[in-house]
Amino acid sequence: MAQGLESIRQGPDAAALEAIQANALSQLAAIRAGRQALEAHETRVLAALGHLALHRAGRSSSERSTMEMRAVAAEIGAQSRVSDRTVERQIGDAMTLVDTWPVLLDAFAQGRIGRGHVRAIAEAGGVLASTDVTPEQRAAFEQQMVALAVTTTPARVAKVARREADTHLSEPLVVRHRAARERRRVTVEDVDDGMSWIGALVPSVLAHGIDARLRAGARAKSKDDPRSIQQWQADAFCELLLAGVGAPTIERTTGGAEIEHAGLLSTITPIVQVTVPITALTGTSDAPGSLDGAQPVDAETARILAGVAATWQRLLTDPIRGTVVEVDTYSPNEAQRRLLRARDQHCRFPGCSAKARDDDVDHTIAWEDSGTTSVGNLAHLCRRHHTLKHATAWTVSQPTPGVLHWRSPLGHDYVDRPPPTGPTFVEMHPDPGGLRAPDLPF
Ligand SMILES: [Zn+2]
Repeated sequence: MAQGLESIRQGPDAAALEAIQANALSQLAAIRAGRQALEAHETRVLAALGHLALHRAGRSSSERSTMEMRAVAAEIGAQSRVSDRTVERQIGDAMTLVDTWPVLLDAFAQGRIGRGHVRAIAEAGGVLASTDVTPEQRAAFEQQMVALAVTTTPARVAKVARREADTHLSEPLVVRHRAARERRRVTVEDVDDGMSWIGALVPSVLAHGIDARLRAGARAKSKDDPRSIQQWQADAFCELLLAGVGAPTIERTTGGAEIEHAGLLSTITPIVQVTVPITALTGTSDAPGSLDGAQPVDAETARILAGVAATWQRLLTDPIRGTVVEVDTYSPNEAQRRLLRARDQHCRFPGCSAKARDDDVDHTIAWEDSGTTSVGNLAHLCRRHHTLKHATAWTVSQPTPGVLHWRSPLGHDYVDRPPPTGPTFVEMHPDPGGLRAPDLPF
């Protein structure tokens, strides 16, 4: 290449330019082929780890398999500082490719087709895995799509693959829609400037208020209700918007009985935790507050919420240290829970960002093993990692309050520290004087 560049400087020479271009193109092809071969190798290793986990679980319950899979994913995730959910998804995708689409994976490994082609074909072919399509029919589909993919773009392959997959299904849309309906849910996505998406772009405090209300409602759903928490929330979301009444009704249980939930949601008020710097309340600064320790809330909104709203919990933070200095207290337990939620903000498994919820507080040393109910022995774990701790060889200790030491089944250690809660300020005078709040009661 260096020689080629030299000849450009020396003047136009069509043959030399063409040679440079041809050389660059073949280098690109070689790089792509090498990278894809490595990626395919990674896919096979991930799938092997997945199969290892299933093998370890043996013929026992599917719950056991889930736990083994999760333990393996957590081991990889902690090592590479990626959330174990992400790793578990990667393992799942890898196993699908290796088990269901071997021809596709080979073509990718050989550099004959790209990642976009693989994704397009595997996605469109996904419906063939869940129906009464025979392995031979699936293999024929795979062969046909790979043959097409070597000639055209992923977008065109996707279109043909979807159409082709459809022809193998007796009731394609019905089947797909039924499966898709099962996945209904409500999600909140925080974006810039204190705003969030919840199907509509609205201020974050409102989006999280809606989310909190739906979650609270779902926790109170009847045990006979066959819907998942997420499905229930999605139904309630639609009902409230369409009919403006309580909670969703459900048609019929498996036993034939009708369950009514009308009005349930209207009795629930959302609880949203907003952290407010004291300086913002006193009007001496316009420092933003924050929602669940992460999403910024402008000082104006924070002042209004801190002053009037009963359903938004107020946490006042020390302007120097950024730590929580005062909480609204009802009872010691409630105060502890609020402090924990403010301290942890999210699940304390390394890399997990599931929001801290009151009902997910875990005793680091179990109550049965003389663990105390104190903030130094409590930490938030989401349901997923709570089960991981109990059902696998992962262990945790809390040598100093709030600092969690995790040890993986392979003996690797990971320290998870609580995130800073509020904004901190560099202060010229170390003593905030009249702003100093009393020490915490625990
Ligand atoms: Zn978690």
